[in-house]
Amino acid sequence: MQSTMMHRPLLLDEIMERAATEFADIEVVSQLADKSLHRYTYGEMVARAKRLAQALLDARVGHGDRVATLCWNHYVHLEAYFGIPAMGGVCHMVNIRLAADDIAWIINHAEDRILIVDDVLLPLYDQFKDQIDVEKVLVVSLTDQPVPDGLERFEDFLATAGDGFIYPDKDENAACGMCYTSGTTGRPKGVVYSHRSTVLHAITAALPDMLDLSYNDTVLPVVPMFHVNAWGLPYVATLIGAKQVFPGPHLDAESLLDLYTAENVNVSAGVPTIWMGILEALDTQPDRWALHPSLRMTVGGSAAPESMLRRFDGHGIELIQAWGMTETSPLGTAARLKPSVQKLSEDERYARRATVGSTAPLVQIRIMGDDGLPQPRDGHSMGELQIRGHWIAGDYYRLETSDDKFTADGWLRTGDIATVDADGYVTITDRTKDVIKSGGEWISSVALENTLMGHEDVAEAAVVARPDDKWGERPLAAVVVHDGAQLEADTLRAYLLERMPKWQVPDDYVFIDAIPRTSTGKFSKLDLRRLLLETD
Ligand code: ADP
Repeated sequence: MQSTMMHRPLLLDEIMERAATEFADIEVVSQLADKSLHRYTYGEMVARAKRLAQALLDARVGHGDRVATLCWNHYVHLEAYFGIPAMGGVCHMVNIRLAADDIAWIINHAEDRILIVDDVLLPLYDQFKDQIDVEKVLVVSLTDQPVPDGLERFEDFLATAGDGFIYPDKDENAACGMCYTSGTTGRPKGVVYSHRSTVLHAITAALPDMLDLSYNDTVLPVVPMFHVNAWGLPYVATLIGAKQVFPGPHLDAESLLDLYTAENVNVSAGVPTIWMGILEALDTQPDRWALHPSLRMTVGGSAAPESMLRRFDGHGIELIQAWGMTETSPLGTAARLKPSVQKLSEDERYARRATVGSTAPLVQIRIMGDDGLPQPRDGHSMGELQIRGHWIAGDYYRLETSDDKFTADGWLRTGDIATVDADGYVTITDRTKDVIKSGGEWISSVALENTLMGHEDVAEAAVVARPDDKWGERPLAAVVVHDGAQLEADTLRAYLLERMPKWQVPDDYVFIDAIPRTSTGKFSKLDLRRLLLETD
């Protein structure tokens, strides 16, 4: 028997229209290249997004056609997030931190028809422009520099369209956005999001036990809009009518803290590297910024050590750990305190907050052991984290090579090794390719790194496997010490011996100036292995 409910597709159009009517006066603030602030309202944002949609239709961009963005976080990017899907197009956000060759490859692979690029990123565009063949390049002016010949000002393109945009009918499963994985191994792979997956993800992300967002909030995504939809925050904030603040190209700690203060931001999100910088700034200049009294920040993308949560608590800022990946839109888990753990000791509560948390509603996970069997939820049986759900990729876009990312029974293989405890808290112990296997046992590089980063003199630490004749592999730690601090390998070894099983403690420590980073700001184990092999 069919229900008597209306059959209406889940579309981003409804999020736009609601913002334009319910939240017409709520502000969207963007920091431009010269640090001046551009301000307008959701009413204006939606009007311009619809004009973009109309201009694209007039330029004969069709349903399913890709329009690429090479942009920082700002209002035009938000207009692209909504305006391109509104006319049936696909907003392909391109990661500006990739190598120029990779960017060209991605744009060609996605067959992007139009490219929207920030004027401050034109030097990057120049590096790959001869390798791509897009019909139009629209330049967003974050400065007042003139637009080079042959390219078109975004504003001029918008001016070509009138106000009469009518949303075309769309299937809720139609593509609305697209993002390539960073391709740390092999070529990047295209993940295509649908209207339906994006709307469901946004509703879920807003829930109190996930990111807990409402129209009373002011949200500043540090996480770039060119990587996994800025964790969906621009969609979530527009859905619920939260004020949005975009940092533009200025992501250094002091600029961010200035902006948090100026706009009274109470919700932010980013990778641990960003928060490490913020901590340093707050530690050295504790009285400089008058931050919102209940500022909270979501951290994800790589592990945030417990010591970081504690240090932020010391500044009155709550850090909430979440886990996800390009293929999962990205929200998979978030670490909130369930009733079952609220009565535990403070240390145990911290331990739960330092996990990646429990599974989002409408998403299922399992931990697959080496033996091909799901592992018990006992907090120590390890295996590969596998996930399925409405906003989890079931395939990649036009993949030419074979891929083993999806199981025959319909789960995404995340490539992360994890445990899950009886309360449902998931701990990521490693990526499959980073795990250290010593004497037949797995050593978690993440656990070692987090413990090392708990030492007061350690700024950063990353651990990789080094081949070993006797044990197969042994951990090798790369450590960056705080400015002015002195550390010996023996001190670190003794520190770890008090906190970890002896056989897991690295024998060797290398002190370096900085841990190499990936294009998304994570520790690059690949580059670190190369570096350590050379310095070894
Ligand atoms: P890439 O690292 O290739 O850019 P993603 O951005 O999609 O790809 O990263 C996804 C991966 O990031 C996850 O598979 C996991 O290894 C790691 N990750 C994400 N969040 C966390 C977290 N809170 N703790 C530990 N690892 C995390």
